[in-house]
Amino acid sequence: MSSSPDVIVVGAGVLGLCTAATLAGRGLTVTVVDPGGPNASSVAAGMIAPAFESLADGDDPERARLFRDARDAWPDFSARHGLPLYREGARWTGADASGVAARLTALGFASESCSDGTFTPDDWRTDPQAVLFTLSKVGGVASVRSEVQAIGPVAGGWQARTRDGETLAAGHLVIAAGAGVAALDLPTSVSALTGVVAPIRGQIGFIARSLSDHAVRSSHGYVAPATGGSVIGATMEPGRTDLDPDEDRGRALIQANAGSAVSGSEAVTWRVGIRGATPDGLPLAGSAGVPGLWLALAPRRNGWLLGPLIGAVVADAIQGHPPGPQAAAFDPGRFLTEGLQAASRRDAP
Ligand SMILES: Cc1cc2nc3c(=O)[nH]c(=O)nc-3n(C[C@H](O)[C@H](O)[C@H](O)COP(=O)(O)OP(=O)(O)OC[C@H]3O[C@@H](n4cnc5c(N)ncnc54)[C@H](O)[C@@H]3O)c2cc1C
Repeated sequence: MSSSPDVIVVGAGVLGLCTAATLAGRGLTVTVVDPGGPNASSVAAGMIAPAFESLADGDDPERARLFRDARDAWPDFSARHGLPLYREGARWTGADASGVAARLTALGFASESCSDGTFTPDDWRTDPQAVLFTLSKVGGVASVRSEVQAIGPVAGGWQARTRDGETLAAGHLVIAAGAGVAALDLPTSVSALTGVVAPIRGQIGFIARSLSDHAVRSSHGYVAPATGGSVIGATMEPGRTDLDPDEDRGRALIQANAGSAVSGSEAVTWRVGIRGATPDGLPLAGSAGVPGLWLALAPRRNGWLLGPLIGAVVADAIQGHPPGPQAAAFDPGRFLTEGLQAASRRDAP
């Protein structure tokens, strides 16, 4: 692969890899730069959950439509890349099952009452680690295992300087560094924009035993199937960025979600990731405000749900295609003040 691809993507989480795979599928050459190791995407449960996440996000019909559209981008995307997609539904077991059913119906989701709650066939699931592995091998996508330290304009595009002293250049550069964006040296106008991204730490427990054949949710969290066992999650800890497992907090989460089905002495593998989040909970996907520089960042709790749709939104923008109906909701410009717009114009290459 040439050292001058069409597009550089900084970050190999679900948003970076979905964007890279979509661009490669449209014939562009892409280089993804990432130091490797666990990230928010690899520790996630992989639920593709428009129904229950719409309730978690305040029963907003517009958001429910957006989330449903995002889920509906999965079948084609998974078929094209050979990714696992489990359309197994999800169940609510918390209090007020009939109220939950009514709220799902009001948002246009299917629901069925069952012996201990409400079931919806509208929430699906994938296998995060399998998807990340497969997408990193897509033809047309090259990988550079390093950390980008600085991004800056060059004639005709952008360059990324890595910790190993390598400099990569391309006409387009996508910043998909998750919560790690805060440490990147970016043009002032862009860092002012990405400054809206705040970290939310999440911890999840994995046990090597099946507890359910579909996700089971309540106001305390969830139990979900996972490859080789089950995951029980997840904490939402705004502002925390450490990756040290918190055993007490994790055990309390397991007790709240799985009760006596998991004993206090059962072996648990703790996984911790840092989600990036914007003030409105939707990602920044589209132009960074200067030509050739793009964002695919901060999908908070729903990176797996939103990944293929965000990949398409960013690819459309890079290729100058007309934006799809969902693109405006993710436009980073929604957080731009007049002052930032002026700074963006100054930073243009
Ligand atoms: C415990 C937990 C459970 C979750 N469960 C679900 C779920 O069931 N369903 C769902 O939809 N979402 C879930 N999420 C949320 C989802 O995981 C995130 O929204 C999503 O992973 C964010 O993806 P991303 O690509 O933006 O960031 P990340 O996955 O964090 O990827 C960013 C990448 O950028 C790289 N990077 C950072 N800085 C640099 C740099 N300077 N140079 C190069 N690379 C860099 C990092 O190494 C990383 O690989 C969960 C999150 C957590 C923490």
